[in-house]
Amino acid sequence: MRGKTNATTGLGIEEQMNAFRAKCHQRSLKVTPQRMAVYKALLESTEHPGAEAVFRQLRETFPSISLDTVNRTLLTLNDIGAAFVVEGSGDAKRFDANLKIHQHFKCVKCKRIIDFHHEAFDSIDIPENLMARFAVLRKTVYLEGYCDLCKTKQK
Ligand SMILES: [Zn+2]
Ligand SMILES: [Zn+2]
Repeated sequence: MRGKTNATTGLGIEEQMNAFRAKCHQRSLKVTPQRMAVYKALLESTEHPGAEAVFRQLRETFPSISLDTVNRTLLTLNDIGAAFVVEGSGDAKRFDANLKIHQHFKCVKCKRIIDFHHEAFDSIDIPENLMARFAVLRKTVYLEGYCDLCKTKQK
């Protein structure tokens, strides 16, 4: 298996799982096998899956898991900062446990959400009047259109 490492923290999957366990303990959240499995599934995926997709994947290992549990767990991950809801998700929320700075391109046709990283996008300035008005927690550049595959099909 290819070791996926987080460039910000330089951590592999196992270390990130441990960091997540610690985060749960800090917040007095129970570290259940199901919760860990949801986090791991998200961590290992580059698809930005929604609750439904994570549920379908985990059902094989946890026949008793419910879509509702998966959904609530994903929202909890978002609450504690272990993952986030991908912007512009629109219909059903999609999630991302990759906390390394990156941007998203979403295909309006096949709904793929593809990671990319363009350094200039990391340092966009927020106008002072907005800084005064809001407490900005996260900023990102988000692109939407036809992906490489759908673009060729369009022709
Ligand atoms: Zn597409
Ligand atoms: Zn992403």
